[in-house]
Amino acid sequence: MSHLSTNLVHGDDNTFRRVPDVIQPINVTTTFSYNNDPDKLVKAKDIKEGVITTRDPVYSRLSHPNSSKSEAVLEQLLDGHVVVYNSGLSAFFAALTYYHPKVLAIGNGYHGCHGIAKIFTRISGLKQVRLDQYDQLGPGDVLHLETPENPFGTAHDLSFYVAEAHKRGAHVICDATFAPPPLQTPFDFGVDLVMHSATKYFGGHSDLLAGCLATKDIKVKNQLVSDRTFLGTTIANLDSYLLLRSLRTYEMRILRQSSSAEKIVAHFATNKDKYPVLHKIYHSSLQKEDFIKQQLRGHSPVFAIELTTPELAKRLPSRLKYFHHATSLGGVESMIEWRAMTDPGVQETLLRISIGVEHPDDLIADLDQALSSLS
Ligand SMILES: *Cc1c(COP(=O)(O)O)cnc(C)c1O
Repeated sequence: MSHLSTNLVHGDDNTFRRVPDVIQPINVTTTFSYNNDPDKLVKAKDIKEGVITTRDPVYSRLSHPNSSKSEAVLEQLLDGHVVVYNSGLSAFFAALTYYHPKVLAIGNGYHGCHGIAKIFTRISGLKQVRLDQYDQLGPGDVLHLETPENPFGTAHDLSFYVAEAHKRGAHVICDATFAPPPLQTPFDFGVDLVMHSATKYFGGHSDLLAGCLATKDIKVKNQLVSDRTFLGTTIANLDSYLLLRSLRTYEMRILRQSSSAEKIVAHFATNKDKYPVLHKIYHSSLQKEDFIKQQLRGHSPVFAIELTTPELAKRLPSRLKYFHHATSLGGVESMIEWRAMTDPGVQETLLRISIGVEHPDDLIADLDQALSSLS
């Protein structure tokens, strides 16, 4: 087996390589001409289940060359069968549609996933319970575990929750957006469906929206692809091209961003007393539980800090040179967000920080001068 960095560049070499161009074109077409040989035409009722992703493209709501190519590369990365969507939330919507549980156990985490769960509660009476109420799950229900979890970057014990859910016949979806491979590989812990917002690290350049689901079961993929055709949530043409371009450099970016974040967190945790305005730092690298070492081979490039007052938290972003004050994460550019701007349920002293690919020493110096100027 070749290595991840090689597979990210070559994993799609045999998928829809239709022109000699090294960089495959952006296909703006919505429809593709059928074969000109009448003997090669296949009737819809004779098409075997699940061949949508391998047959020639027909109509771009089903699939198109760069959507299939990005799936081929993501299959190398996630070590499962992958279905790509036009956003992370479309992927989560597809997952809940597929399982259609009566009860959903869900933690804090990304507010948008709660928005999707609310839609299911409205249209089909889905009952939502907290993560620690897993004893209310029954056969066919779902436990949705986001780890590490937004916005603090806190890791949860996958093995524990998978065992509790499976004991009751429930499925486990893991939103692993904050620590994608090789930092964390949820299939190793028995998760049924892995979800990512590909808008974040897989895209990595803050210029595309995408999401994906990964499964070990080809039958699940076939159903998800069929559902996606009718939900109309396939990744867009330009976005799939950008995603494919981004995946080529993914491994370099994630390893750099992860090691920089760990270094920056360690610096401010060790020197916390130098900054009277710095109240708290949250990151999985500061967690002491036993499962952390088994579950995480590297830490998320996202962490959070609390300052001593909401007023100081509101001012810190404006004092920074290298951090954009914006929502989102995963891009090559570092970002900071006063979380009260997007999350109504969070303490107003909280700032979420996403580390990019800049030199970590420059980022430390920038945070140092900004925190010192407020002290
Ligand atoms: C951003 C994000 C999502 C939603 O993804 P979109 O691509 O914005 O739809 C879901 N979960 C987590 C943890 C995220 O960070």
